[in-house]
Amino acid sequence: MIVMGIESSCDETGVGIVRRREDGTCELLADEVASSVDQHARYGGVVPEVASRAHLEAIVPTMRRALAAAGIERPDALAVTIGPGLAGALLVGVAAAKAYAAAWDVPFYALNHLGGHVAVDTLEHGPMPPSVALLVSGGHTHLLHVTSLEQPIVELGSTVDDAAGEAFDKVARLLGLGYPGGPALDAIARDGDPSAIAFPRGMTGPRDARHDFSFSGLKTAVARYVEKCAREDRAVPIPDVAASFQEAVADVLTMKALRACGDLGVDTLVLGGGATANSRIRSLAAERCEAAGVTLRVPKPRLCTDNGVMIAALGAHVVAGGARPSPLTVATDPGLPVSTAQVSS
Ligand code: ATP
Ligand code: MG
Ligand code: FE
Repeated sequence: MIVMGIESSCDETGVGIVRRREDGTCELLADEVASSVDQHARYGGVVPEVASRAHLEAIVPTMRRALAAAGIERPDALAVTIGPGLAGALLVGVAAAKAYAAAWDVPFYALNHLGGHVAVDTLEHGPMPPSVALLVSGGHTHLLHVTSLEQPIVELGSTVDDAAGEAFDKVARLLGLGYPGGPALDAIARDGDPSAIAFPRGMTGPRDARHDFSFSGLKTAVARYVEKCAREDRAVPIPDVAASFQEAVADVLTMKALRACGDLGVDTLVLGGGATANSRIRSLAAERCEAAGVTLRVPKPRLCTDNGVMIAALGAHVVAGGARPSPLTVATDPGLPVSTAQVSS
């Protein structure tokens, strides 16, 4: 069975195609992404109207490229991100998916973007056992309990203020590293000393029973440090600040993820979302999982950031699980919570 996934929740127009084999594994047939990131760079963040227009221009050519890459004329099922995300951006992908599903007469599945970030790992590492998932992206930071991709996902905790990816972007901006800042900060941190500056680790105390996160204090601490350098008339040691900030984020995320594994008695940790492309989050997660006897599953960096393949991968599981298609009348849901993989009414 061949499933096409369409993603347009933010600034990436993604179309992915996967084939699900009888044994439950999936093969990637196409992964096409058109990004409007360059158009947002001069504003220092995603401009929703600009993103919507870019999706409108890119959606049909991107679908055509994906079909050509996969060597097919149409998939057996079509899956699309229905939320969460930017309202206007979501509308473009959903309208295209509905139109093509109707024209091709193939079933249509309205799916959760966040479920896609978790499900994409199954492409590389096969069916997912009960897991704790650490989802870290530009708009979200969640710890999740995933019993199976067909069951509702249980949220164990989330950020009470900034998302971790957002903190990366804001700190990068503060350091003059441009936009999007996450990858640039990751690169420059390689030349820095992660223990140079002791930045705070929010909500890591023994009393924080829920698995929540806070990154705004850390972001403020970096801002104060930069101000202090200016007052003292000395240059900001950018690599050291980047490395120390990144270490604080990676420390908190991986520590709390492993604490959740321990509390739930779960021995698999899955990473997902754009910020888990970060090299230090990946290496520290690997170190700590190894020490704790927890199996770590991490998609390759390209599949961590937004793409259509993740929606195709989730779609393949939803279809194989016997779910009924979503009606073509289903509406986009910019604030869709993480719990529902598929929206069916
Ligand atoms: P959401 O999934 O919450 O809707 P999103 O769709 O905007 O968010 P993703 O593509 O999942 O975004 O993630 C983008 C985020 O990932 C940005 O904040 C970006 O800075 C961050 N990011 C990407 N690569 C890295 C990296 N190597 N290090 C740190 N952060 C990174
Ligand atoms: Mg993006
Ligand atoms: Fe995302």
